[in-house]
Amino acid sequence: MFATLSDRITDSFKNLKGKGRLTDADIDTTIGEIRRALLDADVALPAVRAFTSQVREKARGAELSAALNPGQQIIKIVNDELIQILGGSTRELHFAKSGPTVIMLAGLQGAGKTTLAGKLGKWLREAGHTPLLVASDLQRPNAVMQLQVIGEQAGVPVWAPEPGNGVGNPVEVARSGLATAKSRLHDVVIVDTAGRLGVDEEMMQQAIDIRDAVNPDEILFVLDAMIGQDAVHTAEAFRDGVGFTGVVLSKLDGDARGGAALSVRTVTGVPVLFASTGEKLGDFERFHADRMASRILDMGDVLTLIEQAEKAFDEGEVEKMAEKLGRGEFTLDDFLKQLGQLRRMGSMKKMLGMLPGMGQLRDQLDNFDDREVDRIEAIVRSMTPAERANVKILNGSRRSRIARGSGTTVTEVNGLVERFLQAKTMMESMARGGPSMGGVPGMG
Ligand code: GDP
Repeated sequence: MFATLSDRITDSFKNLKGKGRLTDADIDTTIGEIRRALLDADVALPAVRAFTSQVREKARGAELSAALNPGQQIIKIVNDELIQILGGSTRELHFAKSGPTVIMLAGLQGAGKTTLAGKLGKWLREAGHTPLLVASDLQRPNAVMQLQVIGEQAGVPVWAPEPGNGVGNPVEVARSGLATAKSRLHDVVIVDTAGRLGVDEEMMQQAIDIRDAVNPDEILFVLDAMIGQDAVHTAEAFRDGVGFTGVVLSKLDGDARGGAALSVRTVTGVPVLFASTGEKLGDFERFHADRMASRILDMGDVLTLIEQAEKAFDEGEVEKMAEKLGRGEFTLDDFLKQLGQLRRMGSMKKMLGMLPGMGQLRDQLDNFDDREVDRIEAIVRSMTPAERANVKILNGSRRSRIARGSGTTVTEVNGLVERFLQAKTMMESMARGGPSMGGVPGMG
């Protein structure tokens, strides 16, 4: 889903990697790339504008978070804004307070309405409702038959015009369908309506007449996610014509570029309620903006990481650490504390797996060993306080004593000291940008 868009947004984060602090120019470069990626994915201009200006504003005003490095902060902001333009939290279907709930489906021919009627019917039936499908699409020769077949698969009864009786009058079918639902005590009625290949007045008038006949609690506009820019015009035409209360995105399983999905909420102001992801009746789910956003960002479970990092890092501790780094006083004791914080974040391997932009590291990840951290800890614990405070005093005999004490070898002790010194230099030089997890020594 949205593979190209996803790749390009992920790529745009590359130039943030390893930066201790971001300049406005860094932010603008990334936002520029995201903007182009969105436009190429056919996202409507108003949605692109809203998105990029929000990201820019938040990125520039971002408080330096103790737990996240600047690149991660931008990713979090982009993620949050993606969720926003996708509609934020998911709205529930509105059910009628009394009598059957009427759900009317609208959209172009081929959008996936009839299929959706079956999916929604099945979904509602499984949730304990007793839906009735109503075949008011009399435009397409096979539509009624198609709905009957789908209804059977879904285990949901279908109200269809008898041949020769009421044929040609979809409004009557809708009306009699609703009456039938009332008398047979169905609690939900799903009315399938006709679509044309393009928006036309006659079709819209028919939809309006059906709407007025059955007074729906929900009008769901079914939007084929594959149709790109045109999606926006179609959505506007339906909004201004019959109107709708919710959107269903269909064919999200195809190689849709993302334009329809990312634009429809901003352009119409109406939330997306469901996603259709295949031809089978089970390929259907509630639409969750947050899950969609993380699929688009495709960077592992960034949010989980961010939440864990924010929990694990004690802001006060981190500030103290940053000050120490600034004064060039980072010692092995501080290093031990950092390791402890990382441990609190759970298995390091799992954590590294969740970090975005860890492409190359992922290869090394398979070789990464949590026990390595145990050995580092053992080595540091075998040092005296004076040694921890100043590794420069570690001569040969001290090193072999430490190796014996920690059950490691002198080579391992040397390796640790060397990496610590390199990391210390690096961290101190970027201390003003705050400590970053990527800069934790001993992780190379
Ligand atoms: P309608 O004209 O709006 O009623 O559209 P249909 O329900 O007849 O769907 C048109 C075509 O799209 C059919 O071949 C469906 O099987 C297919 N279709 C519907 N929804 C999806 C979906 O989510 N994914 C895929 N891949 N195909 C779908």
